[in-house]
Amino acid sequence: MLLLVKLQDYLNKVVQGDVDVSLSNLIQYTNDCKESATKQISKEKRSYRIRMSGLGRPLCQQILERAGHREDMPYNAPVRFWFGDMSEAMLMLIMREAGIDIVEFQKEVELKIAGHKIKGTLDVVLRDEAGVERVWDIKSASDWAFKHKFAGFGGYDSIKEDDPFGYVMQGYLYATAMNLPFGGWIVVNKSSGQLAVVEAPEWQDEDRVKYMADAAERVKFLTDPKSKPFKPFPEEFETYREKGEVIRTGNKILPKPCGFCGHKTHCWPKAEMHGKVTSKAKFPPQVWYTRLKKKEL
Ligand code: SF4
Repeated sequence: MLLLVKLQDYLNKVVQGDVDVSLSNLIQYTNDCKESATKQISKEKRSYRIRMSGLGRPLCQQILERAGHREDMPYNAPVRFWFGDMSEAMLMLIMREAGIDIVEFQKEVELKIAGHKIKGTLDVVLRDEAGVERVWDIKSASDWAFKHKFAGFGGYDSIKEDDPFGYVMQGYLYATAMNLPFGGWIVVNKSSGQLAVVEAPEWQDEDRVKYMADAAERVKFLTDPKSKPFKPFPEEFETYREKGEVIRTGNKILPKPCGFCGHKTHCWPKAEMHGKVTSKAKFPPQVWYTRLKKKEL
């Protein structure tokens, strides 16, 4: 947690007006921003390949991408991704200015997994006060994700429990490629500007072995020409409780992992968004229904 303290100390000095930014770090920051803008506004459309950053995501998504199916993106998606990149560039500038010992950043790495060369770009390798180098991933998070996944009651175990984006596998793949321990995630809340440092456990061999074995199975599946698109998540019955009894509304709701997925209109063409039928709120939360027979109770 010394890392977090150093970053907070530095930002307190910024608040007090006690520091000046160095020209070299400023130039690096503007280069990072330029790269991000170029990446977001570019004609280049990458063809499918397995990347360390995405290998831990549900296989049903990856096999659709292998088949050339593109995710549905709303018009604001590039701006959202761009905000993420800009926040991460800002966090890198803060780390450089705070005097964090940065050994590597944005480094291309590769690993041979199940006989295939799998590439990735790690965010940063940091050296701590004891001289130990670790691979860290930088994330920008929404207010909700920051509070529930990274800070407060969140942490390594909570990310591991529910990891639709494959963050833990990504970390171990980069770390293994560098033959270094995985440090964890350095996170900025895009809404409040708060920072969190989520550390991976010191004793991580068991997890590393488990995630590397899973990565090998995934690569085998994704490189097998016989693998076909599939839908692994079942719809869920919508229920509510009355006098202690669980009652079905007759509606079905989209499985949770599909809610985050850009392929949902492909997999669930009849899915529709509607105010939660079982909610008593004046403005009920919006929910994806795969079958909406009953619009109110
Ligand atoms: S919508 Fe659901 S089933 Fe389809 S690819 Fe996405 S996560 Fe998988």
